[in-house]
Amino acid sequence: MDAFSYVRAADVDEADRAGGASGARYIGGGTNLLDLMKEGVEHAVMLVDITRLPLADVTPTEDGGLRIGALVRNSDLASNAEVRKRCPLLSAALLNGASQQLRNMATVGGNLLQRTRCHYFADTGFASCNKRKPGSGCAALDGFNRQHAILGASPACIATNPSDMNVALAALDAVVRVRGPNGERTIAFEDFHRLPGDTPERDTNLAPGELITAVDLPPGGFSKHWHYLKVRDRASFAFALVSVAAALDMDGDTVRDARIALGGVAHKPWRARETEKQLIGKRLTADTLASAANAAIADAKPHRDNAFKVKLAPAAIVRAASIAGGLA
Ligand code: SF4
Repeated sequence: MDAFSYVRAADVDEADRAGGASGARYIGGGTNLLDLMKEGVEHAVMLVDITRLPLADVTPTEDGGLRIGALVRNSDLASNAEVRKRCPLLSAALLNGASQQLRNMATVGGNLLQRTRCHYFADTGFASCNKRKPGSGCAALDGFNRQHAILGASPACIATNPSDMNVALAALDAVVRVRGPNGERTIAFEDFHRLPGDTPERDTNLAPGELITAVDLPPGGFSKHWHYLKVRDRASFAFALVSVAAALDMDGDTVRDARIALGGVAHKPWRARETEKQLIGKRLTADTLASAANAAIADAKPHRDNAFKVKLAPAAIVRAASIAGGLA
């Protein structure tokens, strides 16, 4: 582990100033960053401790939505009464992630920034990893790639985003609030994480020095018809092979609105837009669902060990949406 300096920010202004320094990293729960620093994957020169900032509340917004502070712990968010009432999909996704001990430490902001669990990325014994060392190649392309992406990948990187929370936030059309050297701004959730392209070292569209302050959930929340399905190798404490956040707004047996987001298949939480399009306005039947679910993987490009995801993803969509819509 490299030597680093440490500063505890007393307020957001101080965090902004310290976080703008070259090599500085914000630290909240530290459940991912510290592991990667110990493994020599991350090289922070300074850690800016933001745990004392007043960003740990869940509050209603004027438009009827919810604002979730970046420092709300994952376990607190999962058990928050308003979240469970308005957006139970988010609570369920959180409870599918990690372990209770990790959820007690991990923050919302940190979960947004969780790095891939590609083992070639996390193990510096492998020389080739464009995400860890740009230009070095991608060991996963010809290596063991069972966990890797089938959608939106590039020859530079086929890693997946590991977060469950992010899949639910994608389905719920969340908005990320950030603050940095150029002031405050909001980022639509779908624009927050990036596809790898030629720059897989960049996971998000955060600018240098920007601090995540909150995540806004719009009004609504699909509190009646929802399901989070996670398919994984173990029943708990494992990352998704495929996960599905399904949220439906139903008018009888007709779909008024549909949100389908996938985890475990791409470098970012993947909105299945074509699937949603094919469901909206239709009666929810097994046939409609099967056809719409297949549309989600029309552009899939599997690799040696993960072709099973091409069948698993639509099957998981059918299962999750069937439960959400009351078919199963
Ligand atoms: Fe690195 Fe991405 Fe390739 Fe994994 S998939 S080895 S993270 S470049």
